[in-house]
Amino acid sequence: MDRVEFLKRICGINVWKNAGRRAPHKPLLLLLALGRVYRGDDRLCRYGEDIEDRLRALLVRFGPPRRAHKPEEPYKRLSRDGLWEIPGFDHLPTVKSGAPLLKALRESRGGFPESLYRTLQADPILVIEASQEILDGHFPKSLHEDILDAVGLPAYLRRSPVQDAEVLRERRDPGFRHRVLRAYERRCAICGFDVRIEDQLLGLEAAHIKWHAAGGPDKVTNGLALCMFHHKALDVGALGLECVNHDIKIIVSSEVNGLSKGVSLLLDFRNARLRPPQTEALAPDCRYVDWHRREVFREPAWETA
Ligand SMILES: [Zn+2]
Repeated sequence: MDRVEFLKRICGINVWKNAGRRAPHKPLLLLLALGRVYRGDDRLCRYGEDIEDRLRALLVRFGPPRRAHKPEEPYKRLSRDGLWEIPGFDHLPTVKSGAPLLKALRESRGGFPESLYRTLQADPILVIEASQEILDGHFPKSLHEDILDAVGLPAYLRRSPVQDAEVLRERRDPGFRHRVLRAYERRCAICGFDVRIEDQLLGLEAAHIKWHAAGGPDKVTNGLALCMFHHKALDVGALGLECVNHDIKIIVSSEVNGLSKGVSLLLDFRNARLRPPQTEALAPDCRYVDWHRREVFREPAWETA
Protein backbone atom coordinates (compact mmCIF):
# COMPACT_ATOMS: atom_id res chain seq x y z
CA MET A 1 0.00 0.00 0.00
CA ASP A 2 1.43 3.39 -0.94
CA ARG A 3 1.19 6.63 1.05
CA VAL A 4 -1.72 8.08 -0.95
CA GLU A 5 -3.83 4.97 -0.51
CA PHE A 6 -2.98 4.83 3.20
CA LEU A 7 -3.96 8.46 3.84
CA LYS A 8 -7.16 7.90 1.87
CA ARG A 9 -8.08 4.98 4.11
CA ILE A 10 -7.24 7.00 7.22
CA CYS A 11 -9.70 9.65 6.00
CA GLY A 12 -12.17 6.82 5.44
CA ILE A 13 -12.22 5.95 9.13
CA ASN A 14 -12.53 9.65 9.91
CA VAL A 15 -16.15 9.57 8.80
CA TRP A 16 -18.63 10.06 11.64
CA LYS A 17 -21.33 7.51 11.21
CA ASN A 18 -23.37 7.44 14.40
CA ALA A 19 -25.22 10.74 14.60
CA GLY A 20 -22.70 12.59 16.70
CA ARG A 21 -21.70 9.69 18.94
CA ARG A 22 -17.97 9.65 19.32
CA ALA A 23 -16.15 6.63 17.93
CA PRO A 24 -12.47 7.02 18.81
CA HIS A 25 -11.76 3.27 19.08
CA LYS A 26 -10.14 2.66 15.70
CA PRO A 27 -8.35 6.04 15.71
CA LEU A 28 -6.76 5.34 19.10
CA LEU A 29 -5.69 1.83 18.05
CA LEU A 30 -4.14 3.27 14.87
CA LEU A 31 -2.26 5.90 16.88
CA LEU A 32 -1.03 3.23 19.26
CA ALA A 33 0.20 1.17 16.28
CA LEU A 34 1.79 4.22 14.63
CA GLY A 35 3.63 4.88 17.88
CA ARG A 36 5.02 1.32 17.68
CA VAL A 37 6.25 1.85 14.11
CA TYR A 38 7.81 5.16 15.13
CA ARG A 39 9.75 3.43 17.90
CA GLY A 40 10.87 0.63 15.56
CA ASP A 41 8.88 -2.13 17.32
CA ASP A 42 7.97 -5.40 15.55
CA ARG A 43 5.11 -5.36 13.05
CA LEU A 44 2.90 -7.77 14.99
CA CYS A 45 2.18 -7.54 18.70
CA ARG A 46 0.22 -9.76 21.06
CA TYR A 47 -3.25 -8.39 21.83
CA GLY A 48 -3.33 -9.53 25.46
CA GLU A 49 0.14 -8.25 26.29
CA ASP A 50 0.71 -5.19 24.16
CA ILE A 51 -2.66 -3.72 23.29
CA GLU A 52 -5.60 -4.63 25.52
CA ASP A 53 -4.73 -2.68 28.68
CA ARG A 54 -3.06 0.22 26.91
CA LEU A 55 -5.95 0.74 24.51
CA ARG A 56 -8.49 0.49 27.33
CA ALA A 57 -6.57 3.13 29.27
CA LEU A 58 -6.56 5.40 26.20
CA LEU A 59 -10.31 4.90 25.76
CA VAL A 60 -10.96 5.73 29.40
CA ARG A 61 -8.83 8.85 29.16
CA PHE A 62 -9.70 10.18 25.72
CA GLY A 63 -12.86 8.31 24.74
CA PRO A 64 -16.47 9.17 25.50
CA PRO A 65 -17.70 8.45 29.02
CA ARG A 66 -19.01 4.87 28.84
CA ARG A 67 -19.57 2.32 31.56
CA ALA A 68 -17.21 -0.16 29.92
CA HIS A 69 -14.88 -0.03 26.94
CA LYS A 70 -14.17 -2.96 24.64
CA PRO A 71 -10.68 -2.60 23.21
CA GLU A 72 -11.08 -5.95 21.39
CA GLU A 73 -13.65 -4.43 18.99
CA PRO A 74 -11.33 -2.10 17.03
CA TYR A 75 -8.60 -4.77 17.18
CA LYS A 76 -10.91 -7.18 15.38
CA ARG A 77 -12.62 -4.70 13.08
CA LEU A 78 -9.77 -2.61 11.74
CA SER A 79 -8.97 -5.48 9.32
CA ARG A 80 -12.11 -4.59 7.39
CA ASP A 81 -10.61 -1.21 6.55
CA GLY A 82 -7.57 -2.97 5.09
CA LEU A 83 -5.37 -1.38 7.73
CA TRP A 84 -4.86 -4.33 10.05
CA GLU A 85 -4.00 -7.99 9.96
CA ILE A 86 -4.40 -10.80 12.48
CA PRO A 87 -2.77 -13.91 10.98
CA GLY A 88 -4.89 -17.00 11.59
CA PHE A 89 -7.90 -14.93 12.74
CA ASP A 90 -10.44 -17.11 10.89
CA HIS A 91 -9.18 -20.19 12.72
CA LEU A 92 -9.43 -18.84 16.27
CA PRO A 93 -11.83 -20.83 18.49
CA THR A 94 -15.13 -19.01 18.81
CA VAL A 95 -18.01 -18.62 21.24
CA LYS A 96 -21.65 -19.32 20.26
CA SER A 97 -22.14 -15.93 18.59
CA GLY A 98 -19.23 -16.70 16.26
CA ALA A 99 -16.95 -14.11 17.90
CA PRO A 100 -13.48 -15.35 18.76
CA LEU A 101 -12.92 -16.57 22.30
CA LEU A 102 -11.38 -13.69 24.27
CA LYS A 103 -8.69 -15.98 25.66
CA ALA A 104 -7.67 -16.98 22.12
CA LEU A 105 -7.83 -13.36 20.94
CA ARG A 106 -5.44 -12.38 23.73
CA GLU A 107 -2.93 -14.89 22.40
CA SER A 108 -3.31 -13.68 18.80
CA ARG A 109 -0.97 -11.19 17.19
CA GLY A 110 -2.02 -8.23 15.11
CA GLY A 111 -0.53 -5.27 13.30
CA PHE A 112 -0.34 -3.33 10.06
CA PRO A 113 -0.27 -5.49 6.90
CA GLU A 114 3.26 -6.27 5.73
CA SER A 115 3.37 -3.90 2.74
CA LEU A 116 1.91 -0.99 4.72
CA TYR A 117 4.29 -1.62 7.60
CA ARG A 118 7.24 -1.45 5.19
CA THR A 119 5.92 1.79 3.66
CA LEU A 120 5.54 3.34 7.12
CA GLN A 121 8.93 2.15 8.30
CA ALA A 122 10.60 3.78 5.31
CA ASP A 123 8.69 7.04 5.68
CA PRO A 124 8.57 8.55 9.20
CA ILE A 125 6.99 11.71 7.77
CA LEU A 126 4.03 9.58 6.68
CA VAL A 127 3.70 8.27 10.25
CA ILE A 128 3.54 11.86 11.47
CA GLU A 129 1.13 13.00 8.75
CA ALA A 130 -1.21 10.10 9.35
CA SER A 131 -1.17 10.73 13.11
CA GLN A 132 -2.03 14.36 12.57
CA GLU A 133 -4.84 13.43 10.19
CA ILE A 134 -6.33 11.11 12.81
CA LEU A 135 -6.00 13.69 15.59
CA ASP A 136 -7.61 16.43 13.47
CA GLY A 137 -10.43 14.07 12.57
CA HIS A 138 -11.36 13.02 16.09
CA PHE A 139 -10.02 15.23 18.87
CA PRO A 140 -9.83 18.93 19.73
CA LYS A 141 -6.41 20.55 19.43
CA SER A 142 -6.10 20.97 23.19
CA LEU A 143 -5.84 17.17 23.59
CA HIS A 144 -3.42 16.41 20.74
CA GLU A 145 -0.22 16.65 22.76
CA ASP A 146 -1.56 14.52 25.59
CA ILE A 147 -2.65 11.80 23.16
CA LEU A 148 0.64 11.80 21.24
CA ASP A 149 2.50 11.55 24.50
CA ALA A 150 0.33 8.65 25.64
CA VAL A 151 0.95 6.63 22.44
CA GLY A 152 4.67 7.42 22.29
CA LEU A 153 4.67 9.72 19.28
CA PRO A 154 6.65 12.96 19.31
CA ALA A 155 4.51 15.67 20.84
CA TYR A 156 5.58 18.29 18.37
CA LEU A 157 4.45 17.30 14.90
CA ARG A 158 5.84 19.24 12.02
CA ARG A 159 3.77 20.18 9.05
CA SER A 160 4.46 22.78 6.44
CA PRO A 161 2.86 26.25 6.61
CA VAL A 162 1.24 25.47 3.24
CA GLN A 163 -0.48 22.41 4.72
CA ASP A 164 -1.59 24.41 7.73
CA ALA A 165 -3.07 27.09 5.51
CA GLU A 166 -4.92 24.41 3.54
CA VAL A 167 -6.31 22.84 6.69
CA LEU A 168 -7.45 26.23 7.93
CA ARG A 169 -9.08 27.13 4.63
CA GLU A 170 -10.85 23.86 4.39
CA ARG A 171 -11.98 23.34 7.94
CA ARG A 172 -11.93 26.54 9.93
CA ASP A 173 -13.92 29.70 9.79
CA PRO A 174 -11.33 32.36 10.64
CA GLY A 175 -14.03 34.70 11.98
CA PHE A 176 -15.14 32.22 14.66
CA ARG A 177 -12.59 33.25 17.27
CA HIS A 178 -13.28 36.92 16.77
CA ARG A 179 -17.08 36.56 16.96
CA VAL A 180 -16.94 34.35 20.07
CA LEU A 181 -14.52 36.59 21.97
CA ARG A 182 -16.61 39.65 21.05
CA ALA A 183 -19.84 37.99 22.20
CA TYR A 184 -18.29 37.32 25.63
CA GLU A 185 -16.62 40.75 25.81
CA ARG A 186 -13.17 39.19 25.73
CA ARG A 187 -13.43 37.56 29.14
CA CYS A 188 -13.54 33.91 30.18
CA ALA A 189 -17.20 32.88 30.44
CA ILE A 190 -16.37 30.86 33.56
CA CYS A 191 -13.93 32.92 35.62
CA GLY A 192 -13.85 36.33 33.92
CA PHE A 193 -10.10 36.06 33.10
CA ASP A 194 -9.15 38.96 30.80
CA VAL A 195 -5.42 39.56 31.25
CA ARG A 196 -3.70 41.57 28.53
CA ILE A 197 -0.12 42.47 27.70
CA GLU A 198 -0.47 45.98 26.37
CA ASP A 199 -3.40 45.47 23.97
CA GLN A 200 -2.82 41.76 23.42
CA LEU A 201 -5.06 39.22 25.11
CA LEU A 202 -3.12 36.58 27.00
CA GLY A 203 -4.42 33.01 26.92
CA LEU A 204 -8.04 33.71 26.09
CA GLU A 205 -9.42 31.27 23.54
CA ALA A 206 -12.57 30.54 21.55
CA ALA A 207 -13.62 27.00 22.53
CA HIS A 208 -16.07 24.77 20.68
CA ILE A 209 -18.71 23.18 22.91
CA LYS A 210 -19.46 20.41 20.40
CA TRP A 211 -15.96 19.61 19.15
CA HIS A 212 -15.05 20.84 15.71
CA ALA A 213 -13.59 17.37 15.12
CA ALA A 214 -17.05 15.92 15.84
CA GLY A 215 -18.77 18.16 13.33
CA GLY A 216 -19.55 21.01 15.73
CA PRO A 217 -20.12 24.18 13.69
CA ASP A 218 -18.14 27.42 13.87
CA LYS A 219 -21.13 29.30 15.28
CA VAL A 220 -21.12 31.57 18.31
CA THR A 221 -23.93 29.43 19.77
CA ASN A 222 -21.44 26.53 19.74
CA GLY A 223 -18.63 28.63 21.18
CA LEU A 224 -17.40 29.98 24.49
CA ALA A 225 -14.68 32.48 25.32
CA LEU A 226 -12.54 30.61 27.85
CA CYS A 227 -9.16 31.07 29.45
CA MET A 228 -6.66 28.33 28.53
CA PHE A 229 -7.22 26.46 31.77
CA HIS A 230 -11.01 26.35 31.50
CA HIS A 231 -10.79 25.49 27.79
CA LYS A 232 -8.68 22.44 28.56
CA ALA A 233 -10.94 21.51 31.49
CA LEU A 234 -13.96 21.65 29.15
CA ASP A 235 -12.25 19.51 26.48
CA VAL A 236 -11.22 16.77 28.92
CA GLY A 237 -14.67 16.73 30.52
CA ALA A 238 -13.55 17.97 33.95
CA LEU A 239 -15.93 20.83 33.40
CA GLY A 240 -19.37 20.62 31.83
CA LEU A 241 -22.50 22.60 31.18
CA GLU A 242 -26.18 22.06 31.75
CA CYS A 243 -29.14 23.91 30.24
CA VAL A 244 -31.47 24.97 33.06
CA ASN A 245 -34.46 27.01 31.91
CA HIS A 246 -32.87 29.96 30.13
CA ASP A 247 -29.55 29.73 31.92
CA ILE A 248 -26.48 27.60 31.47
CA LYS A 249 -25.18 26.04 34.68
CA ILE A 250 -21.53 25.09 35.15
CA ILE A 251 -20.98 21.56 36.41
CA VAL A 252 -17.75 19.99 37.64
CA SER A 253 -16.87 16.30 37.41
CA SER A 254 -16.62 14.56 40.77
CA GLU A 255 -13.43 12.95 39.36
CA VAL A 256 -11.66 16.29 39.84
CA ASN A 257 -9.26 16.13 42.78
CA GLY A 258 -6.03 17.57 44.12
CA LEU A 259 -4.73 19.37 47.16
CA SER A 260 -3.36 22.57 45.64
CA LYS A 261 -5.16 25.86 45.45
CA GLY A 262 -5.55 25.28 41.71
CA VAL A 263 -8.43 22.87 42.32
CA SER A 264 -10.54 25.82 43.42
CA LEU A 265 -10.25 27.13 39.85
CA LEU A 266 -12.78 24.43 39.10
CA LEU A 267 -14.62 23.77 42.35
CA ASP A 268 -15.38 27.43 43.03
CA PHE A 269 -17.55 27.48 39.92
CA ARG A 270 -19.56 24.31 40.44
CA ASN A 271 -23.25 24.95 39.90
CA ALA A 272 -22.55 28.62 39.14
CA ARG A 273 -24.23 30.30 36.22
CA LEU A 274 -22.21 30.70 33.04
CA ARG A 275 -21.60 34.36 32.31
CA PRO A 276 -24.01 35.06 29.43
CA PRO A 277 -22.94 36.59 26.09
CA GLN A 278 -23.94 40.07 24.95
CA THR A 279 -27.35 38.98 23.66
CA GLU A 280 -29.53 35.99 24.35
CA ALA A 281 -29.46 34.97 20.69
CA LEU A 282 -25.73 34.25 21.03
CA ALA A 283 -26.11 31.99 24.10
CA PRO A 284 -25.00 28.35 23.80
CA ASP A 285 -27.43 26.13 21.94
CA CYS A 286 -28.64 23.33 24.24
CA ARG A 287 -28.13 20.74 21.48
CA TYR A 288 -24.38 21.34 21.66
CA VAL A 289 -24.43 21.54 25.45
CA ASP A 290 -26.23 18.18 25.59
CA TRP A 291 -23.73 16.64 23.15
CA HIS A 292 -20.84 17.70 25.36
CA ARG A 293 -22.54 16.29 28.45
CA ARG A 294 -23.18 12.96 26.72
CA GLU A 295 -19.90 12.51 24.84
CA VAL A 296 -17.24 14.33 26.86
CA PHE A 297 -18.21 15.21 30.44
CA ARG A 298 -16.91 12.85 33.13
CA GLU A 299 -19.99 11.85 35.11
CA PRO A 300 -21.08 12.11 37.82
CA ALA A 301 -21.24 15.83 38.43
CA TRP A 302 -20.23 17.17 41.82
CA GLU A 303 -23.36 17.84 43.84
CA THR A 304 -24.07 21.20 45.42
CA ALA A 305 -22.55 21.43 48.87
ZN1 LIG B 1 -11.35 30.83 33.06
